[in-house]
Amino acid sequence: MKELTYKNKKLHFNEFDLTEIAKKFKTPFFVYSENILTQNYLHFFNSAAQTGLINPLVCFALKSNSNKELLKILASLGSGADIVSGGELKRALEAGIPPEKIVFSGVGKTEEEIIFALKVKRNGIYSFNVESLEELELINSCAVKLKKTARICFRLNPVVQPKTHKYISTGNKTHKFGLLEADIMSALHHRKYWTNSKLVGISIHIGSQLLDLKATKSAIIKLCDVALKTKEPLEFLDVGGGLGVDYHPDETKKLPHLSDYMNLVSTTLNQHFYSKTELRPRVVFEPGRRIVAKAGIFVMKVLRNKISENNHFVIVDGGMNDFMRPSLYGAYHELLTIKEGKGINPCHIVGPICESSDCFGSHRLMPQLKSGDFIVLCDAGAYGYSMGSNYNLRGRPLETLIKKNKRVVVINKAQDYSKLL
Ligand SMILES: *Cc1c(COP(=O)(O)O)cnc(C)c1O
Repeated sequence: MKELTYKNKKLHFNEFDLTEIAKKFKTPFFVYSENILTQNYLHFFNSAAQTGLINPLVCFALKSNSNKELLKILASLGSGADIVSGGELKRALEAGIPPEKIVFSGVGKTEEEIIFALKVKRNGIYSFNVESLEELELINSCAVKLKKTARICFRLNPVVQPKTHKYISTGNKTHKFGLLEADIMSALHHRKYWTNSKLVGISIHIGSQLLDLKATKSAIIKLCDVALKTKEPLEFLDVGGGLGVDYHPDETKKLPHLSDYMNLVSTTLNQHFYSKTELRPRVVFEPGRRIVAKAGIFVMKVLRNKISENNHFVIVDGGMNDFMRPSLYGAYHELLTIKEGKGINPCHIVGPICESSDCFGSHRLMPQLKSGDFIVLCDAGAYGYSMGSNYNLRGRPLETLIKKNKRVVVINKAQDYSKLL
C-alpha cells in the first residue's frame, strides 16, 4: 500500500511517522489522513469533470464512514451524501452537507425517516431513491400530509451479476434491491403515486468492491434504456457507487483507474442516452469505499503469543467488533508492524472476541512479535468503524485524524465504561 511506507525502519502513513502516535493513544484506534481523504475526493470529482460529464454530483456513501469530522472535510470540498437512514441524514446535515446534495437509498425507509427527509429545510432532500412501489406510495402519502412534493428517483434493478462477494452484490433479481424495469414502467402510469411526487432521476448500484467493469457497463446501458423509456424530463442519472480498491497486492493490477471508470461512464452515457435525446440530466455518483478506504488504518497492540503445536497465534487487542470485514466477508487486509522487521514467522493474528472468525489474517509471515508491539491493519477507512459494534460488551475504539498541518487530533473519543454501561 503506497500510503504506508517504511523509513528508517519505522512505518509512515502519508509521510507521517506512526511510532509516536502508537504510544500516545490507547489501542486499538483508527487513524485517518486528511491529505489522503482530500486527494481521493478531489481525484474522483475532477476525473468526472474532466471526462466532460455534465455538472457531476458526488454523493459520498455515509455507510462506509460517517465520522462527523471526516464528513466536514468532504462537505467543504463540495461533496454530497448518499444516506440510508435518518441517523445518517442527521449526521450529514450536521456536517454541513446541504439537503440539495443528499440522496436517500435503502429498501426499508420508515415513515418517520421519510417525514424527516421531506421536512429538511423547506424543500426536502435532493432525492428519495425508491426501491419498491409500496415505498413510493408511502412517500407520496407523507408528502400529501405535509403539503410537499417528494423528489423521486427509481433505483433500477438492472439484473446483472457483478464479480464480487455475494454479500455485497446487489444488482440481480434475487437481491432485495431496486425495481425491475416492468414495475417502474407500470408505476409511471398510476396517478395515485404522483399526486405529490415527481420523478427526477433513475439510479443503479450493482454492488461493492467492483474490480471488473463489465457488469457496470451493462447496468449503465440498462439505466439509459429505462431512463429514455420513461419519457420524463429527468434531472439526473445516478450510476451508484461500488468502485473497488486494492486490498491485496494481487488486486493492484486488476484495479480500474479512475480515468478508465469515468471514461466508461461518460462514453456509455453519450452513446446510449445523450445522443438520443435533447435532455441533459447531470450524473450522480455514490462512492464510499474508493474515497475513504485508503484514508484510514487501524492500530492494534500485541497482547501475547500462544502456540498450539503448529499454530502460532498472535493475540491483539483489536477485535472483530472494531473491524468486521475479515470475519464477515473473509476479506483480506494487509497487516504491518510499526517497527520494520523480516517476515519469518507464519502466524494467525487474532482478536479477543469469543468467535473463531475473530481473525484478521491467517498464515501471515510476520516478524517475531512480543507483547506491546504494534500492528497496523491497512485500508481500514471504509466499512471499519461504521460497521463496528459493542459485541462482547467492548467499548468502541478511538478515532484520530492527521491534519494537513501534521497535527494529530482526536475526532471521536473511545467509549469507556461510563458511556457503555
Ligand atoms: C453501499 C452503497 C454505496 C457505496 O458503495 P461503495 O462500494 O462503498 O462505493 C452506494 N450506493 C448505495 C445505494 C449503497 O448501498
